[in-house]
Amino acid sequence: MAAGRKPAPLAAYVRKRDFTKTAEPRGRERKRPQGLYVIQKHRASQLHYDLRLEAEGVLKSWSVPKGPSLDTAVKRLAMAVEDHPVEYGSFEGIIPEGEYGGGTVMLWDTGRYELENGLTWREAEEKGRIRFTLQGKKLKGVWNLTRMRGRQWLLIKSRDAYASKDVDITLEKPRSVKSRRLLAGIARAEGGDVSRAATGDPKPAK
Ligand code: MN
Repeated sequence: MAAGRKPAPLAAYVRKRDFTKTAEPRGRERKRPQGLYVIQKHRASQLHYDLRLEAEGVLKSWSVPKGPSLDTAVKRLAMAVEDHPVEYGSFEGIIPEGEYGGGTVMLWDTGRYELENGLTWREAEEKGRIRFTLQGKKLKGVWNLTRMRGRQWLLIKSRDAYASKDVDITLEKPRSVKSRRLLAGIARAEGGDVSRAATGDPKPAK
């Protein structure tokens, strides 16, 4: 890379994908900020939850293996991954097997967010302390992303009226906010691997 030249914002996203094979959007940078917040539940080689916050024209993204917890004592590992286009925020469906992230994607939660502490995105990211309020359909209230080292961050709920020790939100609200489907339902409707997708859904009550 030429000295002083920044890579295109979505270069890593585009490099990892073959848009003739995957239904994921090619997308591009957006200049007008709208404070979009998204979590996609993704049954790929491993089940995880992709947390995305719109900033600097893209969706800044973290892969959270265990998903969010409403318990303020629980610290969830959140691995920073490549920026995604804003258009990705409405994607739900199948990524073909053998392609990057192959498996089933569910739009698990969406809404808006606001940064707290009066910092710009750049300042908060450089400090490794991103504090934000969510106004989602499932997640609300104040949350924190705190950088440990490199790409490793922790996602932690702040103490407020939306915190809870008793509710596992991933089990209580396992369905898509877009289609009300479970992972298995998405895979069945869209030609994915239903039995593999189903391993990401809660076990039916006995
Ligand atoms: Mn993912």
